Amino acid sequence: MEKFEFDSGIDGPALVVTGAVHGDERAGPDSIGSFLENWDRILKKGRVTFVPVVNEAARAQNTRFVDVDLNRCMGAEELGELSEHKIVPEVRALLEAHDVLLDLHSFRKGDGAFALLGPKDNSGGLEPFSHEIAETAFGASVGIKRVLHGWLGSYNCALSAFNASNGKTDDPFPALEKSVGMTEYMRNAGGYACTVECGQHEAEDCISNGVSAIEGALVGLGMIEGEIPKVEGGFDCYELYQVIIKSHEDDGLINDTIENFDVLPKGEPILKVGGKDFSLDQDGVIAMFPKASPQIGESIITLARPSKRLDNV
Ligand SMILES: [Zn+2]
Repeated sequence: MEKFEFDSGIDGPALVVTGAVHGDERAGPDSIGSFLENWDRILKKGRVTFVPVVNEAARAQNTRFVDVDLNRCMGAEELGELSEHKIVPEVRALLEAHDVLLDLHSFRKGDGAFALLGPKDNSGGLEPFSHEIAETAFGASVGIKRVLHGWLGSYNCALSAFNASNGKTDDPFPALEKSVGMTEYMRNAGGYACTVECGQHEAEDCISNGVSAIEGALVGLGMIEGEIPKVEGGFDCYELYQVIIKSHEDDGLINDTIENFDVLPKGEPILKVGGKDFSLDQDGVIAMFPKASPQIGESIITLARPSKRLDNV
């Protein structure tokens, strides 16, 4: 794993910036490359490590992963011979050696960059956390207008309900098995983190979004001179509040042209769930991560509603 490390020698945050956790996403490597090419390498405090390509084997074949999604198996208890499992210990050690993570991604379909933050401060068993204020400020500093939060809690809730309907009630936190990625691991290790989905892989602004996210992160943490990128018209912040899991053969989207950030109609059936029509009882809900043909037990769509989390930053 190639690393570029810079240490000011002065006390301060330890930031790690990662790319290509998914091998087919150029946002990380290209943004980090472009940033480093133009950076004067002056750090005011702390230290920063850049890892342009985390999953080198997947990057070499330009696929999301070789065997399993690295961004879902960081919490795996048993590591086997799978390509991604072999690098998990090194990636864990990398995160544990830092306080703050900026993880850069891009996506295949749709448009519009977005950032993802973790939970609110809590002492629950799923995802205990105490850096909400710092993480919210960090998330604002990367300068991405659309910000989402609340993934793991809502996914765990849906998965628990799905398991319970199949008589499986022994595990209160089933999401931990399938859903611990880079940021979740970082929070669990005592730090905080932000994922930036910089845009569609080939979109014109994908790399510039990544570069300005890196600059904004470093400025926001007081590590370099500069200005935090401006977000025109303020943030559009949403809480992911409900994950809908396919539980019945007929379940799925009624309209499968739904894309990320589409505003969903209130009162009209948008999908089948448990064999019945499902419609929303509130305005302003957007669609996230809609899936055209999920398997039973997989999510069909995630619903997100407006959040005030970034109103006062
Ligand atoms: Zn990705």
